[in-house]
Amino acid sequence: MKVKPTKSELKLSLLGYGLARKLAAIFGVMISVFVIAVIFFNVQTQVELVRERLDLRSQQLLRLGLEVSMPYLIEGRPGELEAIFEEISNQPDVERFYLLDEYGTLLVDGSDVEIGGFLAEIDDPLARQAFDQKEQIRIVADNIESIAHPIVLGHNTYGTMRLDVRLDTLRNEIRTVWVRNAILGGVFIFLGMTISIILARRLTEPLIHLTQVTERAAAGDLNQTIDVQTNDEIESLAHSFETMLVTMRGSIQQIHRLAYIDKLTEIPNRAWFSDQLERVTVAAAMRGERFAIMFLDVDNFKTINDRHGHHVGDALLVALSKRLTHCVTDLGLEAATIDQPRGLTQTSALIARLGGDEFTLILPERYAERVAIGIVNSMKVPVDTKQVSITVTTSIGVGVFPVHARSANDLLKVADAAMYQAKQAGQNCYQYYDEKLHEELLSVSQIQNELRTAIEEEQFVLYLQPQFDVKTGDVSGAEALVRWNHPEKGLLTPDVFLPVAASSGLLPFIGREITRLAISIAKDIQAIAHKDFVLAINLSVEELLEPDFVSDLVDLIHQTGVDPSGLEIEITENTAMFDNDAAVFNIDLLRSIGVRLAIDDFGVGFSNLARLKNLAFDTLKIDKSLLPGMNGRSDAKKLFNTILELSRVVDANVVAEGIETQEQLAFLRTTHCQNFQGYLGGRPVTAGDFIVWLNRQSNCSFTNVV
Ligand code: C2E
Ligand code: CA
Ligand code: CA
Repeated sequence: MKVKPTKSELKLSLLGYGLARKLAAIFGVMISVFVIAVIFFNVQTQVELVRERLDLRSQQLLRLGLEVSMPYLIEGRPGELEAIFEEISNQPDVERFYLLDEYGTLLVDGSDVEIGGFLAEIDDPLARQAFDQKEQIRIVADNIESIAHPIVLGHNTYGTMRLDVRLDTLRNEIRTVWVRNAILGGVFIFLGMTISIILARRLTEPLIHLTQVTERAAAGDLNQTIDVQTNDEIESLAHSFETMLVTMRGSIQQIHRLAYIDKLTEIPNRAWFSDQLERVTVAAAMRGERFAIMFLDVDNFKTINDRHGHHVGDALLVALSKRLTHCVTDLGLEAATIDQPRGLTQTSALIARLGGDEFTLILPERYAERVAIGIVNSMKVPVDTKQVSITVTTSIGVGVFPVHARSANDLLKVADAAMYQAKQAGQNCYQYYDEKLHEELLSVSQIQNELRTAIEEEQFVLYLQPQFDVKTGDVSGAEALVRWNHPEKGLLTPDVFLPVAASSGLLPFIGREITRLAISIAKDIQAIAHKDFVLAINLSVEELLEPDFVSDLVDLIHQTGVDPSGLEIEITENTAMFDNDAAVFNIDLLRSIGVRLAIDDFGVGFSNLARLKNLAFDTLKIDKSLLPGMNGRSDAKKLFNTILELSRVVDANVVAEGIETQEQLAFLRTTHCQNFQGYLGGRPVTAGDFIVWLNRQSNCSFTNVV
């Protein structure tokens, strides 16, 4: 993983290390001062030596002049000294060399340029002074050192020797000394600086390494090795720090697990998924890649939970999460875990549990369809829990980035919407998101919202549809049917809103309202109808399972004083097949107080006749699709009669539903079917209209209500 450059790394790349620079500067200054001092001292010494050497030479020249001159002077033959003085004067650094007697008369002159002829009087104050003081006098002027030396023998002073030496040589040599030392000094300072920098870096490198590790750790990267071997306090500091990192890593992993792992299934949870979806979306947008998101929901999970209990539901979710992982790994994809470096690759997939029975997957788009098919197929194998072996199905919605949505939030909505579509398409399948479906779903969620208001504002009304005796045409009962008096859309039939109410858990609220209205009208009906009149109320599985729903209904029946034997609850064939203790208990509770039981829509479900028989129902309502002529079956009449035979065996009353024509009624009259319900007899009408109509039925025979 590429870590962002830390502050110290930035400083390094631009200016060098802070501490190293300071140390290098300190070492550098110290070395420079030392070198300069040494060089200065060295120059002084060398210059001194040069001076001494040149002085010695002047003195030697003088001594030489003196020694050779003395005998000649004593003997009064100074003229013979000419050659020696010339020799000395010809030395490169000698400007002039001559000899004066005690009167200042020039006796010998070695110079080419004469200052006066032989025995000329020379005004030489320096020579005079030396003569007078009997000691050597020296002065320096105009780059020339003039030395006047008296010629003394015993108490006699014979004259003065004068030597002028050019100081060029001295100056040149001093300059050379300076230059040589300056170069040497420069080299030493350069070397000193270089060594300082190297030394400073050496000293600070472990500290810098530690600093970088600290900064990276502070930036969230705790997976670091600290390589410091200095055999000193820094090394032990590094060890302590490494131990701290290991401890922190452990704690953070622990925190990470608690925050991002679903406790039940031990796969990543919603928080991790949301975080990853954001990242994957941003990364895919930057790289121009596609990916798919899957929303998976177990079909009828609530029912399984209700029927078998929560431990079975939990075991099922654990098994499902494992299957999902296998479906992904079977295709060569890697299932990402929360411990892995963040971000998904083109060969990995993220599986998470969003909560409840909802799972999500993020994976490369090209794998999406194969994974979806794999999941649907994998569900064919029953899940063995300790208690039971269950076959479950799932509905899967697939959304693709960036085709269906571009933001993490929208992608999730899209996949959720596609999943809903898969449910609508009959469950146990996968669906890719499409725009049209989205609009439909919007209207679903709108209905949900409106339903909540409708429940609060009691917008539901009760309609009643009469049932008749086939033979006599007398009114035998009525079915209570709900209608929604929508403030804008008008009167809505249940097919528009009951499925939405059921899927959003609102059905029991509507049921409470309708049963309340039905029981209150039952009281009025029982006051005017004959004693065998039966008022049927539809109950769904959601209502049967809703805590207190049935017990409250029983209480209501008792409170209102309605005769329970004049009431019948209708449960669909499929609800009747639903093997749930709570539902059975509630049905038995109603039956125990004398309420009748009808099996509704018989013929469209998947009945287990043995189980139906156990339910001891009173009425069988044959679905209109089973009426001869309605389903194109040549053996329809035979089938219809078989059902009638069956009901005779179990001693059940039969109501044929959806009778619209006289022909259908005529057919019924040729059978043993006792009752019918349908538009031919009367359409559903408001409870008020029904009472008025019922009152008018003096002989209670059927005439069309509408
Ligand atoms: P269902 O229990 O089978 O109710 C009979 C349905 O058939 C009613 O539709 C009724 O209007 C319709 N119907 C009656 N005679 C005829 C006919 O001759 N031809 C045709 N084509 N249809 C006829 P509705 O009122 O739209 O109700 C639909 C379903 O909604 C009901 O089917 C029932 O399953 C459910 N339902 C209605 N009211 C309630 C309620 O209060 N609670 C519950 N849980 N479900 C209800
Ligand atoms: Ca019904
Ligand atoms: Ca029915």
